[in-house]
Amino acid sequence: MPRIARSYIEVSRQAVAANYRAIRSAIPAGTNVIGVVKADAYRHGAVEVSRILCAQGAQWLAVSCVEEGVALRASGLSARILVLGGIMQWELGALDEFRLTPVAHSLDDLRRFDECAPLDIHLKIDTGLHRLGISSSPGQVAAAVSNLRHARVEGIMSHFASAGDFSTTQSADQIREFDAFRAALAQHNIRAPLVHLASSSAIAFPRTTSETLPAVNLVRPGIALYGYVSPPCGDAPGPSFRVSPALTWKAAVIEVKDVPAGSTVGYGATYRAPSARKLAVIAAGYADGVQHGLSNSGKVIARGSYAPIVGAVSMDLVTIDVTGIPDLQPGDEVTLIGSEGDVSLDAQDIAATVGTIPYNILCAIGPRVKRFYVD
Ligand SMILES: *Cc1c(COP(=O)(O)O)cnc(C)c1O
Repeated sequence: MPRIARSYIEVSRQAVAANYRAIRSAIPAGTNVIGVVKADAYRHGAVEVSRILCAQGAQWLAVSCVEEGVALRASGLSARILVLGGIMQWELGALDEFRLTPVAHSLDDLRRFDECAPLDIHLKIDTGLHRLGISSSPGQVAAAVSNLRHARVEGIMSHFASAGDFSTTQSADQIREFDAFRAALAQHNIRAPLVHLASSSAIAFPRTTSETLPAVNLVRPGIALYGYVSPPCGDAPGPSFRVSPALTWKAAVIEVKDVPAGSTVGYGATYRAPSARKLAVIAAGYADGVQHGLSNSGKVIARGSYAPIVGAVSMDLVTIDVTGIPDLQPGDEVTLIGSEGDVSLDAQDIAATVGTIPYNILCAIGPRVKRFYVD
């Protein structure tokens, strides 16, 4: 294959589609999937991923902000689009113009959205995450909803703080809180046709004790669409579905060289060769999203074997130790995320090495890394 980029990611359309179907098969028949494609679909490409999901039957997408929603509309996507991350005052006009569905996080949001247009809105109830979400009482919410002149409450939702953690009662508490809130609204005759709570971990490790669950008719997976579910904590059930990573990341070898024992490598001379070593310099650095925390602790795959990162990760370059790996040449490529034969390295492995989460590893992949799609 001709070399086309010094560093590139390849996204498998089939893997995204298969992950979507795996999630679908794990949820009840009447439940639909909101494909979460915020942050450029965790760097997998929001437009392309949305097209794949819609071709698989998804009727809903979710983005973080109005700008992301507008970009999907500009690419001709016609699915419903839920905007999760709040609406700024200057973005209000775009909601109606681009047929975006806002999430209301406060009574003030309800009032602002009502003034714009006859919008469908989703109410996000804060049940314990204490990030965005309505923290007013059900009575106050009911009064505000009754005062709406144009807007309609189409959905009611919440978000878990510790979905995969079975060592705490937080999710059970949040479900109880959500049940109580919905019941109180129902007493005021406020019932939303759409009810949703679960992101990837909560779909993979479902809780079964809730009066709300029969009413839930949407789920909001993000990371699972891309092939990851964070390992749960505590006494968790087995995952309800299996997915596989959709993205591989490669970078070209720029140079291969031998260094004598005692040579130091990279900024700060944080690595000293204990013996004569063969090193390779590869065309990716922290500007591309290689975590600086992988300095002297990460690895890549070169010719089917792990090759440790030596010295500090720098802005545009990483040095790896390829002693004992035969025939590696400038122009060859190494794998930063993906597999070669039996040897594999995924975003979860890398996250564990640097003490972060796979979301962070994927979202950090920079714009200089070219993106390609394969079927
Ligand atoms: C990001 C997000 C999701 C998707 O979360 P994953 O853990 O990636 O599945 C779902 N709901 C909300 C409100 C989010 O912000």
